[in-house]
Amino acid sequence: MTSAPSSEGASTPEESYAETTPLGLRGDIDETPVKPAPKRARKGKAEGQWALGYREPLNKNEQSKKDDNPLNVRARIENIYAHRGFDSIDPADLRGRFRWMGLYTQRAEGFPGTDTGHVEEEELDASYFMLRVRVDGGALTTEQLRVIGEISQTFARDTADITDRENVQLHWIRVEDVPEIWRRLEAVNLSTTEACGDCPRVVLGSPVAGISADEVIDGTPAITEIVERFIGDRSLSNLPRKFKTAISGQQDVAHEVNDVSFVGVVHPEHGPGFDIHVGGGLSTNPKLAVRLGAWVPLEEVPDVWHAVVQTFRDYGYRRLRTRARIKFLIADWGPERFRQVMEDEYLHRKLIDGPAPEAIAGTIDHVGIHDQTDGRKFVGVAPPAGRTSGSTLVGVAKAAEDVGSTRVRLTPYQKLLVLDVAEDRVETLTNALDHLGLPARPSVFRRATMACTGLEFCKLAFVDTKNRAGDLVGELEKLCADVAGDLHDPISIHLNGCPNSCARVQVADIGLKGQIVNDADGNPAAGFQVHLGGGLGLDSGFGRKLRGHKVLSDDLGPYVERLVRAFVENRAEGERFAQW
Ligand code: SF4
Repeated sequence: MTSAPSSEGASTPEESYAETTPLGLRGDIDETPVKPAPKRARKGKAEGQWALGYREPLNKNEQSKKDDNPLNVRARIENIYAHRGFDSIDPADLRGRFRWMGLYTQRAEGFPGTDTGHVEEEELDASYFMLRVRVDGGALTTEQLRVIGEISQTFARDTADITDRENVQLHWIRVEDVPEIWRRLEAVNLSTTEACGDCPRVVLGSPVAGISADEVIDGTPAITEIVERFIGDRSLSNLPRKFKTAISGQQDVAHEVNDVSFVGVVHPEHGPGFDIHVGGGLSTNPKLAVRLGAWVPLEEVPDVWHAVVQTFRDYGYRRLRTRARIKFLIADWGPERFRQVMEDEYLHRKLIDGPAPEAIAGTIDHVGIHDQTDGRKFVGVAPPAGRTSGSTLVGVAKAAEDVGSTRVRLTPYQKLLVLDVAEDRVETLTNALDHLGLPARPSVFRRATMACTGLEFCKLAFVDTKNRAGDLVGELEKLCADVAGDLHDPISIHLNGCPNSCARVQVADIGLKGQIVNDADGNPAAGFQVHLGGGLGLDSGFGRKLRGHKVLSDDLGPYVERLVRAFVENRAEGERFAQW
């Protein structure tokens, strides 16, 4: 079948790709000093670790990144492909380097999941793209939101999904339109650079940074500096695999499942700062991040982040894509050795030991109407499984501006917030959002349901997820109307279209992993493997995957209803689903 929806690409400073690209375009020269290769070691060769001197590519993705820095693809898109069209695109760019500019080929129509058994990747490629707009910290102005919405209306058939990494994804993008889209995005300081690929992806941040009474510290300055200094930096554009970062003064960014996270904590001597976690990630080998046991003040976060990324770049495994994420290095080394190598070889100083933040119970999704520290309010709404449209985003921008707000936020739970609303304008705003189909007081089911892209657009999917999730919410609102009020904490329901876990299936109360199952007549049909009782925070752990615990997509509503009723009837006082 197809390869994982990951990344390929980027060459590094050390490589002499600088002269010309495979297509004859001149690339930039990166003059970062080359790290001397230490003594050879068999393990290093087996895993292709650069720091141990092994630079020969061990798979085609590594070869592609060595052949040409993926960031060079931007020039080819602007100068060649946008003029000559989809069929002119070099395959190594199309399925590899385009990702560094936020572009994935979209699944062709007419390939339902049940029929894709032995289809080659090329057959699944539509001549359209998904374009991911990175929204670092989840922070947008209303002007930026309007520009994204208008781009969607003009170039993306009015599609716009809010992802669980605070990005916006547009679909049906033609390569011919990409330069104009970039021009419009960059005019309002937005970017698609390194939104995908083996590089530092969008930096998650608290959607309420700077306005929340619950945060230990505002991480926004660190996010801003990391983006300005390091996104598009060619010395970091060829990592072994994608690299996900989260920085928040409170526990609202799923920090346990990021490659590196900085979580707000108060040091008894030094005051507010951040606790570092590394090595989290889900997919087919899920791992929760582990603490390095170090405390970092706000102003040092970018340098420490840089040291972590460099350690991963040089010591990360590059033989198998399936073992390349930093979580595998951390699992082999342990946090103590990782911290020591990072301190000794990259940071060149010791970090301060620090305490762990106290884990919280439940999920902070910021949905509803809440107080800000400055006396104003913020309003959080729940688009169904993150699905909106360009028209809706334009409408939200106008609704926010009509009540005097210029700031909106996206969340890692596929939600959308309007900040800075005077108390006497809240009702005006919530009425306007209601008209856009975005109630500020959604049902518990709408609030806690997430879904990945799924069969509609993703080439790796087996089943539909977005539309199924939206329908499921409607079904549960009817089927469970009499018990919804008894759910003190919403039960999280996450739908994935395949085992890759883009919607964090293993850490949901009810995780649904898309696959083809047999229906009652033994015929293949869309369905889900069920994971039960996963969670983050105080409930950190992966859901139980019971053998044979699978459900047909068509039967999902009644199945979840039975689970919800059983929980409500049998739980102990105060018990959460993950504890049940
Ligand atoms: Fe695609 Fe969903 Fe699988 Fe991610 S989890 S690769 S979006 S089907």
